[in-house]
Amino acid sequence: MKKIKKILIGTHNTGKFREISDLLPSKIEKISPFKLKIKSPVEYGKTFKENSEIKANFFCKKSNLITISDDSGLEVESLNKKPGIFSARWAKNYGSFDKAMSKILKKIKKKDKGSRAQFVCSLSIKWPSGKIITEIGIIKGNISSNKRGKNGFGYDPIFIPKGYDKTFAEMKYKEKLLLDHRFIAYKKLEKKIKTFLK
Ligand code: IMP
Repeated sequence: MKKIKKILIGTHNTGKFREISDLLPSKIEKISPFKLKIKSPVEYGKTFKENSEIKANFFCKKSNLITISDDSGLEVESLNKKPGIFSARWAKNYGSFDKAMSKILKKIKKKDKGSRAQFVCSLSIKWPSGKIITEIGIIKGNISSNKRGKNGFGYDPIFIPKGYDKTFAEMKYKEKLLLDHRFIAYKKLEKKIKTFLK
Protein backbone atom coordinates (compact mmCIF):
# COMPACT_ATOMS: atom_id res chain seq x y z
CA MET A 1 0.00 0.00 0.00
CA LYS A 2 1.24 3.50 -0.88
CA LYS A 3 2.04 6.38 1.48
CA ILE A 4 -0.83 8.75 2.16
CA LYS A 5 -0.22 12.06 0.36
CA LYS A 6 -3.76 13.40 0.35
CA ILE A 7 -6.73 12.64 2.57
CA LEU A 8 -10.36 13.68 2.71
CA ILE A 9 -11.45 14.57 6.24
CA GLY A 10 -15.04 13.40 6.03
CA THR A 11 -16.86 15.88 8.23
CA HIS A 12 -18.72 19.18 7.84
CA ASN A 13 -18.07 20.04 11.49
CA THR A 14 -15.37 22.72 11.47
CA GLY A 15 -14.26 21.94 15.06
CA LYS A 16 -13.69 18.28 14.21
CA PHE A 17 -12.07 19.13 10.87
CA ARG A 18 -9.52 21.38 12.58
CA GLU A 19 -8.66 18.78 15.24
CA ILE A 20 -8.31 15.83 12.84
CA SER A 21 -6.34 17.98 10.43
CA ASP A 22 -3.91 19.03 13.19
CA LEU A 23 -3.44 15.44 14.40
CA LEU A 24 -2.44 14.20 10.94
CA PRO A 25 1.12 14.87 9.70
CA SER A 26 1.37 18.40 8.28
CA LYS A 27 2.83 17.18 4.96
CA ILE A 28 -0.40 15.33 4.08
CA GLU A 29 -2.79 17.45 1.99
CA LYS A 30 -6.18 17.70 3.71
CA ILE A 31 -9.36 18.03 1.70
CA SER A 32 -12.77 19.08 3.03
CA PRO A 33 -16.09 17.73 1.70
CA PHE A 34 -17.15 21.39 1.41
CA LYS A 35 -14.49 21.84 -1.29
CA LEU A 36 -15.77 18.85 -3.26
CA LYS A 37 -19.40 19.86 -2.64
CA ILE A 38 -20.20 16.50 -1.05
CA LYS A 39 -23.06 16.51 1.46
CA SER A 40 -23.13 14.35 4.62
CA PRO A 41 -24.75 10.90 4.55
CA VAL A 42 -27.67 9.89 6.77
CA GLU A 43 -26.27 8.48 10.03
CA TYR A 44 -28.47 5.40 10.34
CA GLY A 45 -26.03 3.45 12.54
CA LYS A 46 -26.81 2.41 16.11
CA THR A 47 -23.27 2.86 17.43
CA PHE A 48 -20.43 5.37 17.06
CA LYS A 49 -18.47 2.70 15.14
CA GLU A 50 -21.28 2.03 12.67
CA ASN A 51 -21.72 5.75 12.04
CA SER A 52 -18.03 6.57 11.56
CA GLU A 53 -17.78 3.68 9.08
CA ILE A 54 -20.94 4.85 7.25
CA LYS A 55 -19.34 8.30 6.89
CA ALA A 56 -15.90 7.01 5.87
CA ASN A 57 -17.44 4.64 3.29
CA PHE A 58 -19.71 7.34 1.91
CA PHE A 59 -17.13 10.13 1.57
CA CYS A 60 -14.52 7.73 0.19
CA LYS A 61 -16.92 6.45 -2.46
CA LYS A 62 -17.99 9.97 -3.45
CA SER A 63 -14.44 11.37 -3.64
CA ASN A 64 -12.38 8.30 -4.52
CA LEU A 65 -9.86 9.60 -1.96
CA ILE A 66 -8.50 7.98 1.20
CA THR A 67 -10.94 9.25 3.82
CA ILE A 68 -10.90 9.68 7.58
CA SER A 69 -14.21 10.21 9.39
CA ASP A 70 -15.27 10.36 12.99
CA ASP A 71 -18.48 9.88 14.86
CA SER A 72 -18.44 11.24 18.34
CA GLY A 73 -20.60 12.43 21.17
CA LEU A 74 -21.18 12.97 24.84
CA GLU A 75 -22.53 10.19 27.07
CA VAL A 76 -23.98 11.27 30.41
CA GLU A 77 -24.22 8.41 32.87
CA SER A 78 -27.36 9.55 34.73
CA LEU A 79 -29.12 10.16 31.39
CA ASN A 80 -28.58 6.56 30.29
CA LYS A 81 -25.63 7.57 28.10
CA LYS A 82 -27.60 10.23 26.24
CA PRO A 83 -27.21 12.25 24.07
CA GLY A 84 -24.55 9.76 22.80
CA ILE A 85 -24.79 9.19 19.06
CA PHE A 86 -27.56 11.81 19.01
CA SER A 87 -25.30 14.63 20.29
CA ALA A 88 -25.46 16.66 17.08
CA ARG A 89 -29.17 15.88 16.65
CA TRP A 90 -30.00 17.08 20.21
CA ALA A 91 -28.44 20.44 19.39
CA LYS A 92 -30.46 20.61 16.18
CA ASN A 93 -33.72 19.61 17.89
CA TYR A 94 -33.31 21.99 20.85
CA GLY A 95 -32.26 24.83 18.54
CA SER A 96 -28.56 25.19 19.44
CA PHE A 97 -25.71 23.63 21.41
CA ASP A 98 -26.30 26.26 24.08
CA LYS A 99 -29.90 25.11 24.52
CA ALA A 100 -28.94 21.41 24.43
CA MET A 101 -26.34 22.06 27.17
CA SER A 102 -28.92 23.90 29.29
CA LYS A 103 -31.24 20.93 28.88
CA ILE A 104 -28.53 18.50 30.03
CA LEU A 105 -27.69 20.66 33.07
CA LYS A 106 -31.39 20.86 34.00
CA LYS A 107 -31.97 17.12 33.58
CA ILE A 108 -28.92 16.30 35.72
CA LYS A 109 -30.02 18.66 38.52
CA LYS A 110 -33.46 17.07 38.53
CA LYS A 111 -32.05 13.53 38.77
CA ASP A 112 -29.42 14.51 41.34
CA LYS A 113 -27.50 11.32 40.61
CA GLY A 114 -24.05 12.75 39.99
CA SER A 115 -22.58 14.08 36.83
CA ARG A 116 -20.27 11.41 35.46
CA ALA A 117 -19.90 11.57 31.68
CA GLN A 118 -17.58 10.64 28.85
CA PHE A 119 -16.82 11.77 25.34
CA VAL A 120 -16.53 8.96 22.80
CA CYS A 121 -14.94 9.11 19.35
CA SER A 122 -14.94 6.42 16.71
CA LEU A 123 -12.38 7.22 14.02
CA SER A 124 -12.38 5.33 10.71
CA ILE A 125 -9.96 5.45 7.81
CA LYS A 126 -11.07 4.02 4.50
CA TRP A 127 -9.07 3.39 1.32
CA PRO A 128 -10.75 3.35 -2.12
CA SER A 129 -9.44 -0.23 -2.41
CA GLY A 130 -11.90 -1.23 0.33
CA LYS A 131 -9.63 -1.47 3.37
CA ILE A 132 -11.11 0.13 6.49
CA ILE A 133 -9.72 0.49 10.02
CA THR A 134 -11.64 1.87 13.00
CA GLU A 135 -10.46 2.78 16.49
CA ILE A 136 -12.38 4.11 19.50
CA GLY A 137 -11.20 6.79 21.94
CA ILE A 138 -12.90 7.56 25.26
CA ILE A 139 -12.22 10.35 27.73
CA LYS A 140 -13.94 10.20 31.10
CA GLY A 141 -14.96 13.17 33.18
CA ASN A 142 -17.85 15.09 34.69
CA ILE A 143 -20.50 17.56 33.63
CA SER A 144 -19.84 20.96 35.23
CA SER A 145 -22.58 22.68 37.21
CA ASN A 146 -22.74 25.49 34.65
CA LYS A 147 -21.36 26.37 31.20
CA ARG A 148 -17.81 27.63 31.39
CA GLY A 149 -15.34 28.84 28.77
CA LYS A 150 -15.46 30.17 25.26
CA ASN A 151 -13.02 27.93 23.38
CA GLY A 152 -13.72 24.73 21.46
CA PHE A 153 -17.06 23.68 20.05
CA GLY A 154 -20.21 21.66 20.74
CA TYR A 155 -20.52 20.48 24.35
CA ASP A 156 -17.04 21.66 25.39
CA PRO A 157 -18.34 24.28 27.91
CA ILE A 158 -19.93 21.62 30.18
CA PHE A 159 -17.32 18.82 30.12
CA ILE A 160 -14.52 18.62 32.70
CA PRO A 161 -12.07 15.79 31.94
CA LYS A 162 -11.00 13.60 34.87
CA GLY A 163 -7.99 15.02 36.72
CA TYR A 164 -8.70 18.62 35.64
CA ASP A 165 -10.72 21.45 37.13
CA LYS A 166 -11.53 23.27 33.92
CA THR A 167 -13.90 22.50 31.09
CA PHE A 168 -12.69 21.70 27.57
CA ALA A 169 -13.91 25.18 26.58
CA GLU A 170 -11.66 26.78 29.23
CA MET A 171 -8.60 24.99 27.86
CA LYS A 172 -6.30 26.34 25.19
CA TYR A 173 -6.90 24.66 21.82
CA LYS A 174 -3.61 22.72 21.94
CA GLU A 175 -4.28 21.39 25.45
CA LYS A 176 -7.63 19.89 24.46
CA LEU A 177 -6.27 18.67 21.12
CA LEU A 178 -3.64 16.51 22.81
CA LEU A 179 -6.00 15.08 25.41
CA ASP A 180 -9.45 14.45 24.06
CA HIS A 181 -11.34 11.41 22.73
CA ARG A 182 -10.31 12.17 19.11
CA PHE A 183 -6.65 12.29 20.14
CA ILE A 184 -6.97 8.93 21.96
CA ALA A 185 -8.66 7.31 18.94
CA TYR A 186 -6.09 8.87 16.58
CA LYS A 187 -3.13 7.58 18.58
CA LYS A 188 -4.54 4.02 18.37
CA LEU A 189 -5.16 4.41 14.65
CA GLU A 190 -1.73 5.94 14.07
CA LYS A 191 -0.07 2.77 15.39
CA LYS A 192 -1.84 0.73 12.72
CA ILE A 193 -1.22 3.10 9.79
CA LYS A 194 2.26 4.33 10.75
CA THR A 195 3.88 2.97 7.60
CA PHE A 196 1.44 4.89 5.38
CA LEU A 197 2.07 8.20 7.18
CA LYS A 198 5.87 8.48 6.98
P1 IMP B 1 -21.54 13.69 14.76
O1 IMP B 1 -20.36 12.82 15.08
O2 IMP B 1 -21.38 14.42 13.48
O3 IMP B 1 -22.83 12.96 14.90
O4 IMP B 1 -21.54 14.86 15.82
C1 IMP B 1 -21.08 14.66 17.09
C2 IMP B 1 -21.47 15.80 17.98
O5 IMP B 1 -20.94 15.49 19.28
C3 IMP B 1 -20.86 17.11 17.60
O6 IMP B 1 -21.69 17.89 16.81
C4 IMP B 1 -20.65 17.76 18.95
O7 IMP B 1 -21.82 18.30 19.36
C5 IMP B 1 -20.39 16.61 19.87
N1 IMP B 1 -18.95 16.47 20.04
C6 IMP B 1 -18.14 15.53 19.50
N2 IMP B 1 -16.87 15.76 19.85
C7 IMP B 1 -16.88 16.87 20.61
C8 IMP B 1 -15.86 17.61 21.24
O8 IMP B 1 -14.66 17.32 21.17
N3 IMP B 1 -16.27 18.67 21.93
C9 IMP B 1 -17.56 19.05 22.05
N4 IMP B 1 -18.55 18.42 21.46
C10 IMP B 1 -18.21 17.33 20.74
